[in-house]
Amino acid sequence: MLQGLSISQIVDLTGGKLLCGENEFVVTNVAIDSRQVVRATETLFVALQGAKASGELFIPDLISLGVKAFLVSKSFDENKIRKDEGLIFIAVPDTREALQKIAAFQRKQFKKPLLGITGSNGKTIVKEWLGQVLSEEYTVGKSPKSYNSQVGVPLSIFGLSAYHQVAILEAGISKPGEMDALENMIQPHLGIFTNIGSAHDEGFPSRKAKIWEKLKLFKRSKFVIYQKNDSELSNSIEQEFSADRLISWGDEPGATFVRSVKKLEQGTRIVLLKEDLEMLTFKVPFSDSASLENITHVLVAALTLGEQSTKIQQALDHLKPVEMRLTLKDGANESLLIDDTYSNDLAGLRVALDFMKLQRPKKRRVVILSDVLQHGAVEEVYSEISGLLSEYEIDQVYAVGKEVHRISSAGSMEIALFETTQDLLQGISPNDFQEDLILITGARVFGFERVVNFLQRRIHGTTLEINLNALTHNFNFYKKQLKPQTKVMVMVKAFAYGGGAAEIANHLQSMGADYLAVAFTDEGVALREEGITLPIMVLNPVKESLLLCQQYDLEPVVFSPSFLRFTAALTQKEKIELSIHLDFDTGMHRLGFDESELADLGEILLANPQLELKSIYTHLAGADEEVHKEYSIQQLETFARIKEKLKLMLSIAPLAHALNSAGILAFPSFQFDMVRLGIGLYGVEVTGKNEGALKPISTLKTTISQIKEIPPGGTIGYSRKGVLPDGGRIATLAIGYADGYDRRFSNGGGFVLIHGQKAPIIGNVCMDMCMVNLEGIAAQEGDEAIVFGPEVSLSDLAKGIGTIPYELLTNISTRVKRVYYLD
Ligand SMILES: *Cc1c(COP(=O)(O)O)cnc(C)c1O
Repeated sequence: MLQGLSISQIVDLTGGKLLCGENEFVVTNVAIDSRQVVRATETLFVALQGAKASGELFIPDLISLGVKAFLVSKSFDENKIRKDEGLIFIAVPDTREALQKIAAFQRKQFKKPLLGITGSNGKTIVKEWLGQVLSEEYTVGKSPKSYNSQVGVPLSIFGLSAYHQVAILEAGISKPGEMDALENMIQPHLGIFTNIGSAHDEGFPSRKAKIWEKLKLFKRSKFVIYQKNDSELSNSIEQEFSADRLISWGDEPGATFVRSVKKLEQGTRIVLLKEDLEMLTFKVPFSDSASLENITHVLVAALTLGEQSTKIQQALDHLKPVEMRLTLKDGANESLLIDDTYSNDLAGLRVALDFMKLQRPKKRRVVILSDVLQHGAVEEVYSEISGLLSEYEIDQVYAVGKEVHRISSAGSMEIALFETTQDLLQGISPNDFQEDLILITGARVFGFERVVNFLQRRIHGTTLEINLNALTHNFNFYKKQLKPQTKVMVMVKAFAYGGGAAEIANHLQSMGADYLAVAFTDEGVALREEGITLPIMVLNPVKESLLLCQQYDLEPVVFSPSFLRFTAALTQKEKIELSIHLDFDTGMHRLGFDESELADLGEILLANPQLELKSIYTHLAGADEEVHKEYSIQQLETFARIKEKLKLMLSIAPLAHALNSAGILAFPSFQFDMVRLGIGLYGVEVTGKNEGALKPISTLKTTISQIKEIPPGGTIGYSRKGVLPDGGRIATLAIGYADGYDRRFSNGGGFVLIHGQKAPIIGNVCMDMCMVNLEGIAAQEGDEAIVFGPEVSLSDLAKGIGTIPYELLTNISTRVKRVYYLD
């Protein structure tokens, strides 16, 4: 933070009321998430109202971490405060607004140039690249990742320090009226409007209205950088701002910088012609139009800030297409790698360490890091890094570079120093790591991809990428449909619908899910062995696995009178207690007790107190289809009746639950105590009513193994089913039906996306491979092909071959590597 704040200052800034505590106490840090608190005693915790829960619920945890100062809402119950412990509580009407006011104040303390970026696409990439380019000459502060929201922007501002010489912040909005608050905090001197696209169109009456809203960011800016290639955008900007504030670029004459682009064998040459006819030439390492657009914004901004073109080119030489994400990968010897090889600044390091903290516990926490390549403030930077490493309780550090030796170890952290990445690779072996959690983070020039490759478990060319942010988004979408007290059980059966049970369960655990459910006992055992601690229900245990359930603290569903009698007898004989759930069949006709068996059931349960009844439930047969609405309601009413009868009989009230993903949306008045969320969490909205509200969480990708020219009349694959009468080009992909790529996609039944273009399947899908027609697509061996993901709807794919998304997801073979990331 730029400036420490006393409690009385905070009270003044936020218009709050001091409930208790001393006025002079000073905080140097602001946190909104109990899991991300460092330097606890100097932290102000701001309790925000989340979709999931109020931050106020975490106050006891925070107090035990050592946090003293809290900003809470007016409705906070004062009687809960223990006034004798030196705690400080400030009450404000709206905690989010208060957070923003503190951020706006901090922003005003930053006297150097500050650049604000908005637009539909490319904000984060432009920010990251501009950061890389400017740090050749300046010490740069910037928002971590895509922290661009009402809450992300304040956190970005708190990350700025007095030694930064220039700052870059991004602003993202999804609704009218949101930009004012962001503008008030960011107040950029210089602005970049990247472009305008369809993202968040649904939130605005028109495209124009969206442009106007975004333009508010530059109200007080001295200059605005924009592109003239999109006339709707440039017309709006030119109407709004006087000409002396505009800096444009475009491919036609008339812009401040007229761009011409020449594709080279490798990369692209960009020539910028200024109004004074000075010509500047840059070479960049890519050629796709989106990257070229982003980099042109970067060039114009860096030139406007006065950076020398030779320095800019130096930075461009190390620039690679930015992977905007932290990625979790399996390492050798059961280690887990966090690949953060793109980010190289303190803000990024902090985000990565936070991410590390949220992972399942492993034996040791290891960090491999390089010099931080930024200009100046060397002492401050490394002392701050040392502080972070010890706060996050890192056991072992491998430091690579010429300056990073300045880091020091306060406690038991071991530090090994290497001059170059090559030295590191020669000095370590994958076998140095056993079940460790390893963060790999370094500047581009250090080429830490090699370190990741070296420590990674070998993989084949097909991966399923899981976006953990999208998972959070979907979870919160369903949470919002529920009453605050309704619990959520998440179905992680079938390898979490193909997504990979352990990582997803771990993420859900940290998001506050209440229960997990798996289909079979082994799935539950695997989760326990991975360190998952949430209660786990087993839907379909076999009798032989009941003891295993008891050993692993799993809770079996008992679904028939004979199973119940067996369970009772077994637990009596073994003298053990067991938590169980009961399934009632109200119309699905799959598993479960009939209403008529209630009396029997009650008698057995009363006679067997070693069986603890945790919950009762039923399952709807047609929740996703309007035509079955009456049937569903009948099922739900039957269940409500069963619940009441059971309560009378046993005088206990176990949790009751009935709704699956579709049911949550269709029957909100039947939430009972808990719901069972499945497919919706994974981004598929089966009722079709809320499409767009969910985000796809998974992308199935494969690679092109080979490209072939086929002569006229040539046939492709088994049984010679694929034919190219006029010849053509095909690509062979590294995915087949053994990976879960359905054979019904054969012969044009399916397609993949290569460089954004559809390539239809040609011939029969083979076991490990399939072929696609490359007509009209420029592709090379090794290029990526997308099977499904945000751009290819899983529901459409499923419909195309007469199945449902559930089947496609759960069929993806476990040999396909799962990779998890935060975007
Ligand atoms: C799979 C399953 C669910 C989840 O259903 P979705 O349609 O995926 O939301 C809920 N309850 C039971 C008993 C299930 O087997």
